[in-house]
Amino acid sequence: MPSPGAATTQESSRPGGAAIDREQRAQRLAAGPIAVEVRGLSKSYGERCIFSELDLRVHSGEVVALLGPSGSGKSTLLRCLNRLELWDSGDVFIGGHRIGMSPGGVVLGPSAVARQRVELGVGMVFQHFNLFAHVSARENIAGPLRWVLGWSAREADARAQELLDRVGLADRADALPRHLSGGQQQRVAIARAIAPRPRVLLLDEPTSALDPEMVGEVLEVIRRLASEEGLTLLISTHQLRFAEEVADRVVFLAQGRIVEQGPAHTVLRAPSHALTSRFIRVMAAGQLSGASA
Ligand code: ADP
Ligand code: MG
Repeated sequence: MPSPGAATTQESSRPGGAAIDREQRAQRLAAGPIAVEVRGLSKSYGERCIFSELDLRVHSGEVVALLGPSGSGKSTLLRCLNRLELWDSGDVFIGGHRIGMSPGGVVLGPSAVARQRVELGVGMVFQHFNLFAHVSARENIAGPLRWVLGWSAREADARAQELLDRVGLADRADALPRHLSGGQQQRVAIARAIAPRPRVLLLDEPTSALDPEMVGEVLEVIRRLASEEGLTLLISTHQLRFAEEVADRVVFLAQGRIVEQGPAHTVLRAPSHALTSRFIRVMAAGQLSGASA
């Protein structure tokens, strides 16, 4: 895996280099295939419209930060992308395939959708980790590889150990989730999500359930994923500095629609919509004063 710091160090050694590199990267990504496409997606809970006629395209390898006030529908949108949530109208395509539908247009049931997630290569990391409480860190990763992918116990354990090593938890493989800190649990959850080598990884506020001192270790793991060639990431987060650092694009969701989107540094430093600037001002003030986001 390339060192996460390598690109940044190189960029900062040349005046204006970072901007040029970002521009070149954006052009390269835009010329590549579309990994996620949302077309006219509408979702309500009862009478309450969460979003309406939402469109979004994410290119393969792109890192998108999804920002928006609490209750704006970030989790709902990410859950729709993974078909953990049903919607009222519209379509979601992962790698060009309609998620939740057979090629013939038949609505798929839960077990067929689970297989489809694996085939299309879409995984998810949740705010509250969602680990299996009664089994070890290793088994949290190895179990699904056996049950869903049919791997042998030896292959699955080897992959689990390799990933635990990658997230810095090689020595905690036998620990139960409750014997791990929040930051460690989230690192196990990330390892579990990337174990089947997804092409699209959805991360729903991966650090917001953590004590402040554990945020950094999880962000560092995500930073390394973001530097991996070809992995598409959609991350809902309130960590503005992190979003600016790792995201190619910021998408700002509010009042049931995408209010604004664009290159991360543009949206975060010079937002063009009043709702975006107000949100960024409030979040930045909270983060500077030490409040956890
Ligand atoms: P965010 O992640 O941006 O905070 P959510 O997607 O969690 O927003 O929620 C969007 C809105 O949908 C909120 O008003 C929330 O209360 C509502 N909501 C979320 N899940 C459900 C549900 N299962 N049933 C009813 N309302 C829900
Ligand atoms: Mg949420």
